[in-house]
Order: sequence, then structure tokens, then C-alpha cells
Amino acid sequence: MKRFMMMILSAMLVGFAGGTWAQASGAGEVEEKNIPIKVTEVAPGLFFQYHHEESNNAWLVTDAGVLVIDTRQHPRRAEELLVAIRKTTDKPIRWVINTHAHGDHYFGNSVFKREGATFIAHNDTAGMMKMHYGLEQKRRQGYFRQRNFDPKEVTLVLPDVTFDSNLTLNLGGRTVELLYMGAGQNPGDTFVRFPKEKVIFAGGPFSKNSWPNPSFTPSMTQWVSILRKLAAMDVDVYLGGHGDIGAKADVLQQAKMLEDFDRGMRDAVAKGMSRDDIIKNVKFEQYRDVRNYYRMNLFVSSYYHFLAQGRPENAYP
Ligand SMILES: [Zn+2]
Repeated sequence: MKRFMMMILSAMLVGFAGGTWAQASGAGEVEEKNIPIKVTEVAPGLFFQYHHEESNNAWLVTDAGVLVIDTRQHPRRAEELLVAIRKTTDKPIRWVINTHAHGDHYFGNSVFKREGATFIAHNDTAGMMKMHYGLEQKRRQGYFRQRNFDPKEVTLVLPDVTFDSNLTLNLGGRTVELLYMGAGQNPGDTFVRFPKEKVIFAGGPFSKNSWPNPSFTPSMTQWVSILRKLAAMDVDVYLGGHGDIGAKADVLQQAKMLEDFDRGMRDAVAKGMSRDDIIKNVKFEQYRDVRNYYRMNLFVSSYYHFLAQGRPENAYP
């Protein structure tokens, strides 16, 4: 009965939203429907694009050109991002940083390659792109179908420059620091810090009020610890790969949510519960209003895999 009602709810949502997003069901999804794309200048020349249903971006306009962070989930979305950037500057797109190797953050790379950008990413992000490209294509087919996006338009564009630890860039008089603190949500998770502006783009590990996919993390403990280190930095504005503009409290809230998830899952496994038992009975209800909650079954399933097998479901290397 409950499932049936959810199907009706989904059908209604399709009606209201013109059929753009039919995959999900559940109360949280209603709120997610109608939040328009929003561009905010968070510091002089530093722009953040928040797209609630999909993924976020930032770009820095300097005298020497534009630096773009992440490129969206399909070249068509990347073209839209380029239009948004062109509303703020006509400078050339010189650099692109890919913060992590999930397709919703780098499948638009080819558009910025065409614009002549140099791509920068962590070594492990480059490795993950190569290793998991097929998986990333596969898990985005529903997204492409729903939007009539041709999957064949996506091509694998790898970084031109990679780094291992940290990298500081001086671009047209602005300083940009690429920080690596070990794997959080993913091996290669890169933080892009603007020290003078006290702003950080936190890619995969932080998304304000949003459930992240835990199927790539080799250590939830380290992920939580990285979030606490982020919160302790001399930073005022936290930009996530998903979700709206965040503050320190939002980063700490995400750390607590992940800790609660990890503890709840470990307790359930210690009690001898099976994966299906946990999916049916352990709901993390206190976080049901958090974006992406409707995917909880997948999250539980993949984290169960991690706890049972000792390695992530989508492991690297
Ligand atoms: Zn994402």
C-alpha cells in the first residue's frame, strides 16, 4: 500500500515537473523539485552555481582567465554552465579542476576541453576516472534517459596535470590552493581553497544537508576526520558538490550524520542482521529530510558490502 502511494506520488511529480525527474519517490523529493538553479558571487569574482537536483560548480574570474571547478553530468549541462559563466565574464576558460571522479562532476569535461582549458586533478582522481569510467556511465543511464541526453556525447577527458599532495596556483593575482587530506568519500578527493577569500569548495566529502554516496569510501572514520579538519580551517564559506552554500555548522552536521550512519550500520551488523533486514528495519529516520534520503536502500546496501567484505563496493585500485 505504501509503495503504491509512493508510485502515485511519483506520477504526480512527473506531471508537475514536466517529466524531468521520475526516478525518485518519497516526501523529501517533493521539496527537491522546484529549487531553481542559483548563481551567487560568494567573493569578488568567485561564483558558485547551486543546482539542487544535480551537481554544483564554482568559477573564479581573474585577469588571466577563468578557473572552473567541476563540469556537470553531461556535455549539454556543461554548455549551460558555460552560458552561466559567460554572463559573468568574457575571459578565456584557462583551467578546470575535477574534484573527484563521479560522472555528475566531470562528464561535461569535453566542453571545456574544446574551450582550451587545462585540466587539473589529483592522481587518484585520474586513476578513478580511468578505472570507473564504465561504472560511472552505467549508473547514469537513467539520468540520461530521463532527460533525453545521448550517452554517446560523453567522452572521457582525463586531467592534463596531476598532483599527489598539495598544489598552489597563482592565477592573475589570485591564490588558489588544491588540498589533499587522503581519501574521504573517494580516493583523490580534492579541496579547492581560496585562502584570502576564506572560501573552500569541498567537492565529494561535503554537501550541505545531503546524503552522500558511501560506496567508494575506504574509511568512514577518515572521511569524518577530514570534515572536522575542514570545519577547523580559517574558512567562512563551504561550497559542496551538492546542496546549497554551507557554513562550519553544516560541515560538522555532515560529520555527525556520517558517524551516526557508520555506528548504526556497525551495530546492526554486530547483531547479525542481514543486508535485507537492515534495509527493512534500520532507516536513519532522523535524517529523512536530508536531500537524497530516497536512495537510503542503496547506501545501506553498499555500506553493508563494505562492512562485510572489508573493502568498498566500488573499490580503488
Ligand atoms: Zn555527486
